[in-house]
Amino acid sequence: MTRNGKDSVSEIIVEQIIHDKETPVLILSTDIIQSKYHQFCEALPESKIYYAVKANPHPDTVKLLYELGSGFEIASEGELNLLLQLGVSPSRIISSNPVKTPSFIKNAYSSDIKYFVLDSHSEIAKLSQLAPESKVYIRLTVPNDGSEWPLDRKFGVEINDAIELLVESKEANLKPHGIAFHVGSQCTNPNAWANAIEKSKVVWESVKSKGIELKSINIGGGFPCEYTKPVSSIVEISQVIRRSLTMNFPPEVEVLAEPGRALVGEAGTLISTVIGKAMHDERLWFYLDVGVFNGLMEAIGGIKYKITTPKIGTNRKCVLAGPSCDSMDIISEDIELPELDIGDIVIIMSTGAYTTCYASQFDGFRIPDTYMSHEELI
Ligand code: PLP
Repeated sequence: MTRNGKDSVSEIIVEQIIHDKETPVLILSTDIIQSKYHQFCEALPESKIYYAVKANPHPDTVKLLYELGSGFEIASEGELNLLLQLGVSPSRIISSNPVKTPSFIKNAYSSDIKYFVLDSHSEIAKLSQLAPESKVYIRLTVPNDGSEWPLDRKFGVEINDAIELLVESKEANLKPHGIAFHVGSQCTNPNAWANAIEKSKVVWESVKSKGIELKSINIGGGFPCEYTKPVSSIVEISQVIRRSLTMNFPPEVEVLAEPGRALVGEAGTLISTVIGKAMHDERLWFYLDVGVFNGLMEAIGGIKYKITTPKIGTNRKCVLAGPSCDSMDIISEDIELPELDIGDIVIIMSTGAYTTCYASQFDGFRIPDTYMSHEELI
């Protein structure tokens, strides 16, 4: 079997899957998740890690990270219920979604979760009524320039509003505790964190002069995983972050990080089968049993996956599409693969984050089953 580049799972495991499981199937390597988590702990020793559950909420991923000592960042009741059912201690859970449903706030609060993020007057009103005296963070808008999946359109406030909302939250019987930001997902520019930390300092100092002593900086997620191009390592990014924190904040500042993609992305390998081929517009098209609707949604937002096949042959330019009847269902238009036939295997690397959790059964095509590499396949 010829496979280009780094393997997420061993070739023996891939061979086994091809024979034992029905594709599409997502294999998650526990070794990779474990080693990514350890890399984060070593690179950011003074930070508490809260895995962003949205990236991959598979119960085995949560259980593994819980055993390793991770905390969890959640956005919704669904994620809350999942964690509580798995026995995760509420002391290890925070919510950084700036807009929460009232029932989520109520349930989180009664489950003893007391860290929330906000960025509006209406969220202060909700929290002060449903979660009084909770610790709150303001979500600050920061440049998302280096991010391949920006997150700055929907949430966040500028400096003056951040200050006003922190003051207002204190008056509303909440405890202003810190500043949260997100540099955008798949952020390949380490300076994005330094710029965001410097901007946070302005808010920190200003509310201090108004009698509010903040304690915590939440540096969000955004840490990249490797798709087709090399990216800055967590070590390189953490050096920039730690230097900037030392320059701008007192040593006792509490630091929270919420990585999602970087902990699980490279752990995932999606195995699919060719179900069709055709010539259209003088281009060669291959159709897979997985596409943007049942797993590879980020392809339409610009994420380019490393895609390979065990099939040996001379590479040809082709278009790779999913199985549904929608023309949006195109995984890549500029890829080179050997001549494939119906039944051939195509492997899509670094698919552990934002794949199966985004997936729907649109057009009746099933969502790939997930298997942890150590339990199911060896
Ligand atoms: N924290 C919050 C509040 C988020 O919204 C997200 C992603 O949307 C994350 C953390 C995880 O980001 P990433 O997967 O880029 O690390």
